[in-house]
Amino acid sequence: MHLVIDKYGRSFKTLRVSLLSRCNLGCVYCTTGEDEIKENNHHSPLLSADELLQCIEKLHSVLNLETIRFTGGEPLLYHQLTEIITGVKKIGIQEIKITTNGFLLDRMAQPMKDAGMQSINVSLDAVDEDVFFLISRRSHVKKVLDGIDAALKAGLKVKINAVIMKGINDSQILPLLDYAFERKITIRFLEIMAMGHLHKDPLKYLFTQEEILNKVSAKYVFNKMLRKYSSTSNYWLTEDGHVFGIIANESEPFCHDCNRLRLDSDGNIFGCLSSNHPISIKNIDNKEKLIDQLQEALLQKQAIKFVGSDLSMLHIGG
Ligand code: SAM
Repeated sequence: MHLVIDKYGRSFKTLRVSLLSRCNLGCVYCTTGEDEIKENNHHSPLLSADELLQCIEKLHSVLNLETIRFTGGEPLLYHQLTEIITGVKKIGIQEIKITTNGFLLDRMAQPMKDAGMQSINVSLDAVDEDVFFLISRRSHVKKVLDGIDAALKAGLKVKINAVIMKGINDSQILPLLDYAFERKITIRFLEIMAMGHLHKDPLKYLFTQEEILNKVSAKYVFNKMLRKYSSTSNYWLTEDGHVFGIIANESEPFCHDCNRLRLDSDGNIFGCLSSNHPISIKNIDNKEKLIDQLQEALLQKQAIKFVGSDLSMLHIGG
């Protein structure tokens, strides 16, 4: 087995695959408005499931990947989703996960589970309909909530991710926490990251880990848990046994043991969210050349701190 490893001992063990750049929400952190959403949905590049599986298999042959996570854009809009899950299972990657906005989860939870999906992260930034609209530019939060119920019923492991933006949805921290705790779901709050159009003004909407903890402490007593190697999240355990996390890119960066590699829907790899220099692997059929490309991607990782990039998460995959 070839080793692709950097001077900090970091390698790639988790692959995040952006299946498409199209999305059925228009979240304010990903896009600037309806024109950009329309434009983006029109130009979304797309490899077929076979082409994507070829890229994934090539990467697995060198990296012996442990986990794959499908993302996007909105991965549930990818029309060959179940085929690609089955394909990844055949390739032999042990853990198959997905990050979704949950809008289509009601009907997709069971087919995904049947195809081999084990675990899903649902992005839910508000439980209040008006705040949900404010952040996602779309209505019907109930569709997402019904999707979460369907996923639990199908036996999928569910986590909730909520990006917190100062002045937009910080009022939702306790309602989201209560919603998740009632269903015994782990919830993680994310500090806003300097991606896409937010790269120019990174601190404008930042609601820090400390501010989030202050809000939670109004209702809950909690203790910090030990962080697991390569985890994106810090976790806390409440006195009544519930777990919540915070992904604190800004306050407590976790670049030092990051093991994530990203593949976009056009067959490009990225070693770090802070890089918008795509490295194409779709036409590479030589293992030595692929290793060179992976070494180059590894050099994109930051030593200490996430700095962001002009690329929206919609393209590179969250
Ligand atoms: N459409 C899917 C979803 O909503 O989960 C997958 C793609 S989305 C880009 C993945 C995750 O990235 C979501 O949880 C979203 O909230 C998060 N995200 C996007 N832009 C972000 C930013 N600037 N800062 C923090 N999180 C962001």
